[in-house]
Amino acid sequence: MDNKFPGKDISSDDLISKFPLCAKKHKNHKTKFKVAGVEFGGNTIPVLAGPNLAESKSLVFKTAKSLKKMGVHFMRAGAFKPLTFPYRSKKYFETREEGIKWLKQARDKYNLPIISEIMEEKYIPLFCENIDILQIGSRNMQNYPLLSACAKTMKPIMLKRHYGSSIRDLLGAAEYILYEGNKKLMLCERGVTTPHTHKASSRFLLDLQAVPALKEVTHLPIVVDPSHATFWRKWVEPMALASVAAGADGVMIESHPNPSKAAVDPLQPVDFVELKLIMKKMHSIAKSIFKKRVL
Ligand code: PEP
Ligand code: MN
Repeated sequence: MDNKFPGKDISSDDLISKFPLCAKKHKNHKTKFKVAGVEFGGNTIPVLAGPNLAESKSLVFKTAKSLKKMGVHFMRAGAFKPLTFPYRSKKYFETREEGIKWLKQARDKYNLPIISEIMEEKYIPLFCENIDILQIGSRNMQNYPLLSACAKTMKPIMLKRHYGSSIRDLLGAAEYILYEGNKKLMLCERGVTTPHTHKASSRFLLDLQAVPALKEVTHLPIVVDPSHATFWRKWVEPMALASVAAGADGVMIESHPNPSKAAVDPLQPVDFVELKLIMKKMHSIAKSIFKKRVL
């Protein structure tokens, strides 16, 4: 094997034999596509923001109104959640079908498209009817039947990197989606665990090198989610700015009108004042370095 590519486990032979659909065909090969009028992989760096969980109808509507006003491109919120433990408190619950309906209603009222995580094939019709981007979460990155079933809908998909996966595994999963003929795919770096997690600053380590590493081999847009990586709202701004500087094609930021009252992971979301400031700063960086825009 001659040329070794980033991630150390990808060779130029692999790009042809294992990742023919993900692989860049030439140096400037880049996939661009629009979702609800917003382009990924182009001159805008879309922001996908919102709470971890679509906790209530009022939270969803209040959030959508504020996000739309500040120029956020997509609202994110989970209604079906991969929760680490099966125990639920009164505050900590999935809102499931009802949550999805609230998201759709807020979408239509505020003209703000939605991204939400799908975990089971049986909910594909519900998501296709109501949601703009299917999010496949970290924990399902290698759930190949789910990847193929979601891909077949031809809905735009954001595939989050599993926190223990290599770049090779991520691209293998992406290949399953492209193999079904679905070209509206973006990848998302959201932090990894490392053998040295005890020495790292938090539970996950945001692998920002994944952005240039992926861009070297694939034409797909790369989104970064600093919120799930840092787990700590104070670090979201510096890591969001670093994501843009690293060349991210989109940034996902968990935000909540009253972060300390968030039902899930209350240390993680930023409030809307902070989000507005982060977007302004991301815009400055995007403009000065890449002649791109966030706002
Ligand atoms: C999320 O975005 O809400 C989420 C659960 O993310 P991840 O799959 O990256 O943990
Ligand atoms: Mn979350």
